[in-house]
Amino acid sequence: MHGPPPNSAAHNPSRQSIAGRWVIPVEGSPIEHGIIEIENGRIVALHQNPAEDAVSFGDAVIVPGLINAHTHLEFSSLEQPLAADSFAAWIRAVVAHRRTRSISNAAAAKIGLHESAASGTVTVGEIATKGWSGELFADTDLRAVIFRELLALHPDRIPGQLSIASEHLEPAQESGESGPVFGLSPHAPYSVHPELFREVCGLAAARSAPIAFHLAETREELQLLDSSTGPLVDLFREMGFWIDGQIEAGTRPLDYLQEMARAPQGIVIHGNYLSDSEIEFLAEHSNLTVVYCPRTHHFFRHAPHPWLKLHERGVRVALGTDSRASNPDLSLWNEIVFLHERFPDVAPALLLQMATRNGAGGLGIAEETGSIVPGKAADLTVIQPAHRDDRDAFAGLLSSGSRVVAAMRGGKWIQSARLRR
Ligand SMILES: [Zn+2]
Repeated sequence: MHGPPPNSAAHNPSRQSIAGRWVIPVEGSPIEHGIIEIENGRIVALHQNPAEDAVSFGDAVIVPGLINAHTHLEFSSLEQPLAADSFAAWIRAVVAHRRTRSISNAAAAKIGLHESAASGTVTVGEIATKGWSGELFADTDLRAVIFRELLALHPDRIPGQLSIASEHLEPAQESGESGPVFGLSPHAPYSVHPELFREVCGLAAARSAPIAFHLAETREELQLLDSSTGPLVDLFREMGFWIDGQIEAGTRPLDYLQEMARAPQGIVIHGNYLSDSEIEFLAEHSNLTVVYCPRTHHFFRHAPHPWLKLHERGVRVALGTDSRASNPDLSLWNEIVFLHERFPDVAPALLLQMATRNGAGGLGIAEETGSIVPGKAADLTVIQPAHRDDRDAFAGLLSSGSRVVAAMRGGKWIQSARLRR
């Protein structure tokens, strides 16, 4: 699936030009008949002057490489989401899947990386768990921010989780420009002791590492935090995970946001039930980003997500798929097509920004990727729109008939042959 498109100038791989009917840089206005000049994997210019040796994508539209800011690739071998009639029942199904699956985490993640690349995703914000291997990502063409999942409600398990966290950040010094960025993911308020959460936020601050945390995801979580009651407490008690007295009565997501704000970058995964005061807090802390997972949100039939309100208040909202345990596929492109269908009045430019630049900002890699501007890595996704309109770069772009035809990371095609079949 690797290799340049058939008409590429293969004689000088360090320099190349890519042309499309439109280039949508996300920072700056769309450029009709745009040409992107790339040298040694970085964008050096963006213009409209005809270039004879350009790789032309005809009527296709070139956008920044798509960024899936939240996924768990360990579930990528699932053919369909885990059926459940409540969040608690779904958690039970996830735990059962983890115990009984026959495929290793690494093998499942490999399937997920392949699917991501094939659907035009260039960067993933991955929550990695036991069995995670650096080789997996060394082997891939995707850009990655790898958050190590940390889970412990019992105070005795805190030191062990902290050493896992610390070790995970070790390779950061060696990974270099093209390797993954390493971060930490204390799982969720109901699965992480508050003391462990505080320590992890402190570690992230000390080591300049990004952090990702599932928060305000369900009403059941809010009930658990407020009063240690409800279906999640019942489930965890039955499974033997719950320990009374670990979470103080009256705890709110805001208490966690205040800790998270110490990290250089913090990703609030989901935030489906954020209160107004929490949204205000986020608006005052530009290092915090909410990652909305539209089709996963839909799968759980949650109350409407506050993403538009967050955006209006100036909070950065990025997009994620979450995993195949709650989503039929891992295509970030399908997330924005889904949103466009449900919110036809929202500017497509905003949806594209959420899928690119906002993801880069949230993951702390905005200097490297997220928009098509000189100086950044040449991370690009090429889309064939469903139909053409000479006046509008977005015409037919976010419709279900559009198609991802190619993607590039750092000047290297990560797929295209496969999609052109
Ligand atoms: Zn998740």
